[in-house]
Amino acid sequence: MNKLADRLNRLSPSATLAMSQKSQELKAQGVDVINMSVGEPDFNTPDTIKEAAKKAIDDNWSRYSPVPGYPTLRKAIVEKLKKENGLEFTESQISVSNGAKQAVCNAIMALVNPGDEVIVPAPFWVSYPEMVKLADGTPVIVSAGIEQNFKITGEQLKSVITEKTKMLILCSPSNPTGSVYTKAELKELADVLAKHPQVYVVADEIYEHINYVGKHESIAQFPEIRDRVIIVNGVSKAYAMTGWRIGYLAAAEWIVKGCNKLQGQYTSGPCSVSQMASLEAYAGPQDDVETMRQAFQRRRDLIVKLTKEIPGLEVNVPEGAFYLFPKCSSFYGKSYGEYTINNSDDLAMYLLTEAHVATVGGASFGSPECFRMSYATSDENIVEAIRRIKEALAKLS
Ligand code: PMP
Ligand code: GLU
Repeated sequence: MNKLADRLNRLSPSATLAMSQKSQELKAQGVDVINMSVGEPDFNTPDTIKEAAKKAIDDNWSRYSPVPGYPTLRKAIVEKLKKENGLEFTESQISVSNGAKQAVCNAIMALVNPGDEVIVPAPFWVSYPEMVKLADGTPVIVSAGIEQNFKITGEQLKSVITEKTKMLILCSPSNPTGSVYTKAELKELADVLAKHPQVYVVADEIYEHINYVGKHESIAQFPEIRDRVIIVNGVSKAYAMTGWRIGYLAAAEWIVKGCNKLQGQYTSGPCSVSQMASLEAYAGPQDDVETMRQAFQRRRDLIVKLTKEIPGLEVNVPEGAFYLFPKCSSFYGKSYGEYTINNSDDLAMYLLTEAHVATVGGASFGSPECFRMSYATSDENIVEAIRRIKEALAKLS
């Protein structure tokens, strides 16, 4: 009785969304919580995009859209990929879905058979291994610590590829570390993949535009593996549109057709009004993207500087996205009052209850020695949050 399907028992809930929910509940009780848990831009969607959505409503864009998304939006995405990434795609090689999250999940569901292995470099975004499990695949975790700037090497990749490997999920700029793979590092991975034609790559590039080291590099640029790369991207982060739920994948047509088949039975085409807003995002002026990127870079500099001043934390310098992923394991085994910190989840809970700062423990990202802070919040919040964290950590002994 009341028994959920086995596949749900194997699934962990999203730790990022759970922490955010907890922080909102505390806020509703009147507690002054600074929320650094969920990763979403704190900016409003640019006005031109909002206007396009209002017009779409007035113009009655109110019916089912084609399953892969409107041809006009797919054309704008094709143009974006050509202009910004130098990559040639056709409209039939694009599938628009309900956020990049669904695009990643579609790619996994369309390609992974039960028992297939999917390589997931850790630290990873919380949802990747869970989506692989939903497809009855086996996540194979390959870890890269702070000492290697959280990036895996070609050697590491080579060492975990077996005849059962179906896919690699690569996220650059990375959630949760902010690390960005250079062209040379991507080439090293591509050289390994070139020798294993059965392995596909999901390249999650959702943080493409939040990059502090220059031009975005896509692993799809290497011709020897190009046909096996599924690029995932969307409007959520670059255009501050997390709630609009529009993402896409770009891949070989047979893969896109598979994803469309899945999407046709599962969700249909994504929201019509959000698609028209996203068309404006891609085809309209891009100034706001750069303004927001600059704000994130300033905040990155601020949070790195302040966090480096906290004794006991080891801090990487993120090159993109809006997360800091300090190593905090020096606090494990320490206590204050009724709290004992045994792991990253204990630390995140301690920071929430004692410092009223919501963060996320590193265990859900496959790196139990770290914790994640999203700095997509105001400078004042960053300064106050780090002050509180420093004070709370200093009490542990
Ligand atoms: N990939 C990564 C790495 C992310 O951080 C996110 C943010 N949740 C997504 C995909 C999903 O983005 P979206 O909001 O477009 O579904
Ligand atoms: N990408 C965001 C994060 O990691 C959104 C939350 C989610 O979709 O899991 O916080």
